[in-house]
Amino acid sequence: MFHSARLKLTAWYLLIITCISITFSVVIYREVGNEVERFDRAQRIRFERRLELGQPVGAPALPVPPNPELVDESEHRTLIILIIINSSIILASGILGYILAGETLKPIKEMMDEQNRFISDASHELRTPLTSLISAFEVYLRQKNRKIKDADILVQESVDEAHKLQSLSESLLQLAQYQKPNDAVTFEKISLDSVIQQSINKLAPVAVQKNVTLSYSPKSVDIDGSKYGLIDLFVILLDNAVKYSASGSIVTISVKKTDDSVVVNVEDHGIGVHEKDLPHIFDRFYRADAARQKTRTGGYGLGLSIAQKIVRAHNGSIDVKSVLHKGSTFSVRLPVHQVSSMKGVSLFS
Ligand code: ADP
Repeated sequence: MFHSARLKLTAWYLLIITCISITFSVVIYREVGNEVERFDRAQRIRFERRLELGQPVGAPALPVPPNPELVDESEHRTLIILIIINSSIILASGILGYILAGETLKPIKEMMDEQNRFISDASHELRTPLTSLISAFEVYLRQKNRKIKDADILVQESVDEAHKLQSLSESLLQLAQYQKPNDAVTFEKISLDSVIQQSINKLAPVAVQKNVTLSYSPKSVDIDGSKYGLIDLFVILLDNAVKYSASGSIVTISVKKTDDSVVVNVEDHGIGVHEKDLPHIFDRFYRADAARQKTRTGGYGLGLSIAQKIVRAHNGSIDVKSVLHKGSTFSVRLPVHQVSSMKGVSLFS
């Protein structure tokens, strides 16, 4: 499909350039023809006048008599030169057009490949729990002596599975939202402190339930960004920090400001990430083995992928330092608010 689109685009480029080139050539050919004929007429008049008047003594030699064959030849040569020039232009623009069409279509191809990967990943993740639900129902229905106690267990398991599916579809929607191109959002001046506070408030009930303490020393820093996008970002990081920490542990959120940027560290003392998993944890649907064993009902490996998209949309960066069984620190660097720097930018580029 990419190849045929590339050929079509090349053909369009070629058609446009050929039309322009041929139009110019026709104009040039006509003008040259007119010019040669005008010159020929002028020569003829001058020659006839000299002949009529007789050649005065000491006058320069008579102009060369007009030669119709020479005129035809000039027009013929002009035509051949124009044909050669046009053929070269068409050949060169065909090659250049093909290269240019490839470059033009490259981002579209990358976006389509990414979308196809996303759809196949998402359908794969959705199929697994659905298949296990269906087979559980089928096994139950095939039993001859069905007991109400078994039905209760099955329903309870199905409800858990449905909750997981619901959270997966929410995460997929969130990811799709942050992947949307051309969705221009006007960044506004926001207080980083209020964003962090609101994220902590959202996570507080989960932390209490898990007996994990969230420690934060507020710092007043303004940044340009999307408030809700940044709340989503810190909720993801805090949720992971709590999820992968043991009961009684502390999660620390600290803010450090430099001249033009601010770094927010979310530090936990949980299970940590193995060195081999570190390069992949921001990939979509990636879950480290330790995380899979630790949280049976946990996420789907989408959180950090969403977090990375939000940070990038804010022209920031996200890094992680982690030691297995010791803990992890996720660091988000964001540019601070610059006076008169606010403008409409695409959040989801
Ligand atoms: P998940 O829903 O599985 O947490 P994420 O995309 O948020 O998905 O995280 C991807 C993987 O990165 C997790 O499965 C886990 O292995 C690892 N991870 C993320 N945050 C932490 C953390 N604070 N401590 C340990 N491992 C983490």
